Amino acid sequence: MGDIVDSIVPETLDRLGVSSALEERLMRVERSLESLIPLELDSGERVYFQGFRVQHNSALGPYKGGIRFHPSVTAEELAAMARLMTWKCSLMELPFGGAKGGIAVDPQPLSPGERLRLSREYLFRMYPVLGPDTDIPAPDINTDSETMGWMADAFSKRSGTWRPDALTGKPVCLGGLAFREEATGFGAAEVISGFFQKESGKGHPSCSIEGFGNVGQHLALQLAERGFRILCVSDSRGAIANPGGLDIGTLSRLKGQTGHLNHPTLGEVFTPDGIDRIDVDYFIPAALPRSISPDRAKRLSCRHVVEAANAPVTPEGEKILLERGIPVLPDILVNAGGVTVSYFEWLGNRSGDRQDNDRVRDALSTRMVRIAQEVMDRAKREGRTLREAAYLIAVNRVAVAQSAREG
Ligand code: NAD
Repeated sequence: MGDIVDSIVPETLDRLGVSSALEERLMRVERSLESLIPLELDSGERVYFQGFRVQHNSALGPYKGGIRFHPSVTAEELAAMARLMTWKCSLMELPFGGAKGGIAVDPQPLSPGERLRLSREYLFRMYPVLGPDTDIPAPDINTDSETMGWMADAFSKRSGTWRPDALTGKPVCLGGLAFREEATGFGAAEVISGFFQKESGKGHPSCSIEGFGNVGQHLALQLAERGFRILCVSDSRGAIANPGGLDIGTLSRLKGQTGHLNHPTLGEVFTPDGIDRIDVDYFIPAALPRSISPDRAKRLSCRHVVEAANAPVTPEGEKILLERGIPVLPDILVNAGGVTVSYFEWLGNRSGDRQDNDRVRDALSTRMVRIAQEVMDRAKREGRTLREAAYLIAVNRVAVAQSAREG
């Protein structure tokens, strides 16, 4: 099963009328580095893992994208994610191209010392293709600010200079931004409330959120603050619903303390797939890719689907949703708050300016609202879906820059 990005980009390139040579150029990845990463375990035993950095396109600037530690990591999956980063950065008017990296490893059984050594070895192996003007990594699945701190240190040891702008998502004490943690959820909330205001702006719309991790929790808190009613949330182990609206602050605190959503004092508790039967205005997948299959698209009881996760709606699923008159707010817009705040971090690291949270939040809000408006206007003017409009804007910008560079 493919992702929508595999079909929407060729369609968009056709609509833009680019040459077949440029189409091929923009569909292929520019560079991919694969390297064996050695790790000395605490026991003294030496093991090896496969590490990758896949760089899709740099027409707009240095590559940008996360590094994930997960057993499912492959060059193909990273290439798909790197492409998505190119279009997302372009849509958000960031001076970055797209990349993604990772190690095919399950980090859970590793000790902190083993994870530190693995992170360092990865950085040393990938060093020839990284740098603040070349490719700037960030955290992704199973990596975090601590990992970025270790990698920033490894980068500086190898280069002989301290370059905080070589990686983003760092700890605050190393030039990271505290707001990065909530940026993706906050940005998604800005897009959803902008869309709601434009559609009707009346009452308190209802939502379900699939996934209660970093994105899902911050998004739920932000939407609740804006007067949305969160009727149901789920995670990999369970779901909880309350027809009067969940108390998200308390639920988030309890999930932090216990690691689960099984809190019957706050609502009815059931299995994760029970979320599909709750009728809502906005159904928001914020967990896994490809979670909305055609069967599920037929079953969902909602007026809109909002892609807070990357590529949660399959192409076949989207077709059914659109046939049912359910618009989809696309991932390259909805979850772009994280990479946009990474850009602010990179800028601040380069200028040496300390950025405060309020300024970063305001700058993110202004940009998300403006670009969401541009996507909605374009969709309306040309009778297109929101995804088609977003890709027309994003892909055109890269195509123009690529032609300006190479003729
Ligand atoms: P996370 O690991 O913090 O949270 C993921 C959540 O999904 C967890 O609560 C997990 O229990 C839940 N989940 C897993 N399987 C599920 C299932 N079958 N049903 C319901 N819930 C399930 O991850 P995250 O950082 O919140 O990222 C979520 C999604 O958003 C991913 O697709 C990620 O690529 C995308 N994304 C994240 C960011 C970011 O800044 N974190 C930025 C852009 C896109």
